[in-house]
Amino acid sequence: FELERLGVHESVEAVFPPAELADYLIDLPVEVAVIGDDEISSCDAVVTLEHREAFLDLNWVHSIQAGVDRFPFDAFEDEGVVLTNSTGIHDRTVGETVAGYLLMFARRLHDHVANQQERRWERPEWDDAFTLPGSTACVVGTGTLGRGVAKTLSALGVRVTGVRRSGDPVPGFDEIYTNDRLLEAIEDAEFVIVTVPLTEETRHLFDAEAFDAMRDDAYFVNVSRGSVVDEPALIDALETDTLAGAAVDVFEEEPLPEDSPLWGMDEVIISPHCAAYTRDYFRDTGDIVRENVNRLADGEAFHNRVV
Ligand code: NDP
Repeated sequence: FELERLGVHESVEAVFPPAELADYLIDLPVEVAVIGDDEISSCDAVVTLEHREAFLDLNWVHSIQAGVDRFPFDAFEDEGVVLTNSTGIHDRTVGETVAGYLLMFARRLHDHVANQQERRWERPEWDDAFTLPGSTACVVGTGTLGRGVAKTLSALGVRVTGVRRSGDPVPGFDEIYTNDRLLEAIEDAEFVIVTVPLTEETRHLFDAEAFDAMRDDAYFVNVSRGSVVDEPALIDALETDTLAGAAVDVFEEEPLPEDSPLWGMDEVIISPHCAAYTRDYFRDTGDIVRENVNRLADGEAFHNRVV
């Protein structure tokens, strides 16, 4: 297809100002414009955060997220609409966020922040704080996120194991397990970190059985998608002390409802689905879009094509 007008849908506003991306792509040989819902039909393609039914009349949709579980793949297929995503750019950002969570738990930094809110001078118990070297983190999903987490944690002295479907070795991981050995992979780890896409196969992958298999002193981290976890089972494991704590960036319902018990737990760190945020986000996504506009012009296959 011929690309004449590329829309930057206003829903990207949740991650960066749409105009920043439009400016960044100004050198492309196509018209680039920030658009709202009423201007979708004026474009051939869009860059977007959210899905809209009207996108099914276009030729190409680019998701600024790596996770594309909210897009209806079958409808895209039926209508012949190309869907591309932004995997490949979130390794360092999410890796540093996860390292931050682990350092907060190990060095008790979250306690200090909580105490500071109350102007309270209170030191941790003598045996609360620990250091990371010698501990094991099991990273479930060894793609861009998993590799970035592995690289960052390895640099802090953590031994990193991974879980993936193929079981093939991955650089930066000390050991790899296949998905069917998940429980065995997580049972000895001090940290279990979820970085797998949400699919029919991974929905509620972390349920009561998985939390039971984990050590009682283990910390659980989810930076993938909320529905990979059975959230009531996680809450139950935290309330019954069969887990030491959790850092959670993604939830079954977002924003996390005000009455969720997770908000009030001392050993839970909550972030509002922003583990990959960076002021460079629009550039990182823009580079994928630019690459694909060039490939389209050269008649080459799309990079990061999902449908
Ligand atoms: P990738 O496609 O690069 O990696 C996916 C990894 O999961 C692969 O290693 C794959 O290995 C493994 N995997 C294991 N089981 C499955 C399965 N059933 N289906 C598919 N893959 C499986 O994706 P990214 O690392 O870029 O992103 C992963 C997810 O993280 C995204 O889909 C998104 O939901 C989430 N995300 C969250 C962010 C946040 O802000 N919190 C930011 C960015 C992404 P193998 O093929 O061997 O199975």
